[in-house]
Amino acid sequence: RSTGGLNTVSNDTSSATDSKDLRAKLVLLGDSGVGKSCIVLRFVRGQFDPTSKVTVGASFLSQTLALEDSTIVKFEIWDTAGQERYAALAPLYYRGAAAAIVVYDITSPESFSKAQYWVKELQKHGSPGIVMVLVGNKFDLHENRSVSSQDAQEYAEKNNMFFIETSAKTADNINQLFELYHYQYASVVNILLT
Ligand code: GDP
Repeated sequence: RSTGGLNTVSNDTSSATDSKDLRAKLVLLGDSGVGKSCIVLRFVRGQFDPTSKVTVGASFLSQTLALEDSTIVKFEIWDTAGQERYAALAPLYYRGAAAAIVVYDITSPESFSKAQYWVKELQKHGSPGIVMVLVGNKFDLHENRSVSSQDAQEYAEKNNMFFIETSAKTADNINQLFELYHYQYASVVNILLT
């Protein structure tokens, strides 16, 4: 099979199984404190840890997904854990990412501006055809909302992104967020296999 042009997903030739093993790198970007670690933990472990704090360096979580045709896709979920401050390192972090989750906190307009900065960065330096989702997290705090769903939706549409509001605390829309990716990857994998 050919991966011509689609360097965002690479074949894993070390696989000893018959299944087609494809890797996909998925990055999370956004201001410190918007809930990136909590979103990943909520998805991977089904837990919300309110003591979650910013760790030094990037943390890494891997999630394997078996598609219906027995293709295995590995999501490499990276979380910058604050390293986004080191702007010069950022392109190393999202290089080769097939997908990006850009997170802001719906109670923080600053974090929404920062999300827009990351979207521009990804448009400039990310993989061509990268799948991007704009995520407004902390939906449980909607009484203190300061970024309207409508504004975010419009911004997402203009930039060819999906948009979803989540709460890592209550688990609202967390599975839906990652299902969006599963669906997108099924398409990418199909393109690779035909
Ligand atoms: P990160 O720096 O983006 O990885 O953010 P963290 O995942 O470390 O979360 C930062 C803080 O926000 C922590 O105190 C979390 O408990 C809190 N937090 C994360 N997600 C939510 C959420 O959906 N709702 C609420 N209310 N708090 C959240």
